[in-house]
Amino acid sequence: MNIQYVKKLLKFSLIIITITPAFCKAIEQKQAKQGYPITAVPFTDVTLTDDFWSRRIETNRTVTIPFGFKKCEEEGRIRNFAKAGGLMEGEYEGKMPFDDTDAYKIIEGASYSLTIHPDKELEKYIDDIIEKIAAAQEDDGYLCTWKTLNPKTTPAPWVKPGPRWHDLRMSHELYNSGHMYEAAYAHYQATGKKNFLNVALKNADLIAETFGPGKKLDVPGHQIIETGLVKLYRATKNEKYLDLAKFFLDQRGNAAGHVLHGAYSQDHQPVTEQDEAVGHAVRAVYMYAAMADIAGIMNDSAYLNATEKIWENVVSKKYYITGGVGARHKGESFGDNYELPNLTSYNETCAAIGSVYWNHRMFLLSGDAKYIDVLERTLYNGMISGVSLSGDLFFYPNCLESDGKYEFNKGALTRQPWFDCSCCPSNVIRFIPSVPDYIYANRNDSLYVNLFIAGKANIKMDKTNVEISQDTAYPWEGKVIIKVNPKTNERFAVNIRIPGWALGKPVPSDLYRYLNENQEKVTLKLNAKSIDIKMNKGYAVIDRKWSKGDVVELNLPMPIRRVIAHQKVKDDLNKTALVRGPLVYCAEWVDNDKKVLDLLIPDDAKFQAEYKKDLLNGITVITGNVLDKSGKKRKLLAIPYYAWSHRGPGEMAVWLPRKPLPD
Ligand SMILES: [Zn+2]
Repeated sequence: MNIQYVKKLLKFSLIIITITPAFCKAIEQKQAKQGYPITAVPFTDVTLTDDFWSRRIETNRTVTIPFGFKKCEEEGRIRNFAKAGGLMEGEYEGKMPFDDTDAYKIIEGASYSLTIHPDKELEKYIDDIIEKIAAAQEDDGYLCTWKTLNPKTTPAPWVKPGPRWHDLRMSHELYNSGHMYEAAYAHYQATGKKNFLNVALKNADLIAETFGPGKKLDVPGHQIIETGLVKLYRATKNEKYLDLAKFFLDQRGNAAGHVLHGAYSQDHQPVTEQDEAVGHAVRAVYMYAAMADIAGIMNDSAYLNATEKIWENVVSKKYYITGGVGARHKGESFGDNYELPNLTSYNETCAAIGSVYWNHRMFLLSGDAKYIDVLERTLYNGMISGVSLSGDLFFYPNCLESDGKYEFNKGALTRQPWFDCSCCPSNVIRFIPSVPDYIYANRNDSLYVNLFIAGKANIKMDKTNVEISQDTAYPWEGKVIIKVNPKTNERFAVNIRIPGWALGKPVPSDLYRYLNENQEKVTLKLNAKSIDIKMNKGYAVIDRKWSKGDVVELNLPMPIRRVIAHQKVKDDLNKTALVRGPLVYCAEWVDNDKKVLDLLIPDDAKFQAEYKKDLLNGITVITGNVLDKSGKKRKLLAIPYYAWSHRGPGEMAVWLPRKPLPD
């Protein structure tokens, strides 16, 4: 062999050896920053024709958004921006250090609403508020109206006065920023305008200059800035924001540089070592959503392992049958394992919303339908219960039982119009318009149908565009007609979620199980012919060459079923809950001779389902003969849990005894 050639070859090999690790790392990083493996089809590409969600979204647009803005005007939240910006005189109004966030959250919901329903007047109104927000921003980017207006006092006794960043455990300065980023991102997406986004970026630049390795090492007491920063990264592709989000997460549980805020703020151990959901539930689920972002976008396996472990803990030990999380009023927090009381259950509406955010991200990471099972249960029960059918009354806690005496809803027995701390109403406003975001998703040549909501969507697949439509009366009926119309005939996989509840598992854990067997099977037809169901990760996969006009018919039988809880859940011992499809039912006083807490549901009781179009905007009720504690026959009428508390306060129960309980 020619010696020169050998030398050349050796040199080339050395180059290969030398550059390979760096080259691989570069490739890895490029891949790492590409984002989640699965992409949600945005709600802007989805049109709903259903009755259930369309009506809620329309009520949110016509009632809840104007109502929320009106409350913000009346209670000084908008004036606070004007005052901090020197546009008017006066002190900070409000009892909470995070009142700014209510305005941000309503702008976020209104922005989403504008994308579907353009409204020049609303857009102008939002721009006027943004002008005041921009005025309230200090020259270096700082924005938190209570600190700017009253640095030496405090709106609440539990917040320490002091200079910027003085009491991050309670000051909510970074929480205010986080909600601002989320809102600014939504407004930018909806309108293409940068007036709000620029305010957010200027604020984030200040925070990036102030916090980070070699700078301030403290973390916010209340998370949300992390997911907000990820959204700014999405808007700008500037990795500084992504790195800052990860810094705030990495720094939790690290006592070097800050006094730990403790388990209440999930700042008791490094996030990658956490394996149990503890502390304030809303803070927790926002943080878990952010951890999923880091796992998904930065391809970080330590973050992924931790979120999976925490998720297992929640779903197998700390999760209500209604999808609610956060059992305790005290500290608005998760309880111990299996601590799931009914009368005193907290289940903050915000925690349900945060749980949807978290579970959706876990699906985008994994393609596993179990996360959508949890998301759906929360959506149709413990989240939607948070707002009245009229759109202007709200639950903060969502209890599973009422005795008509315990004032569970911040001093009230029923939904209230607003609260001193109005996080829940404003969160409902920002969340409801985005519900169509959760229906479809895609990855290369795989399309996912996650929720069953009538309407249409346009989905860009690898080789073609697909128009997909659903025709269904879900959640009242389990028949779903799915039409698949690709622009050109192409092969791809349609993954249709077969809900766990239809396959014998009400939740993806052993926390709840069905008491009675269901003989009816899920069926699937393709172009009117029955086909075998091939399951993968909770989806029926139909992988074939699709053509215009192909029709899939899914049938999810919806018998009335009884659920029982794991025996370690003391409060549900010997009790059962009635469910049908994705909906959890409850017995309310008004339908049951004014008393429900004395009812028993014997195991042999028979039930019927009946749709009543004039009751509570149209619901399917469950009726049957049951007993009371003295053994007397009684009639039971149960309604979907989300629809309770519209006809005056009184007794309500999701879980009822199967036989007389010992006193
Ligand atoms: Zn709340």
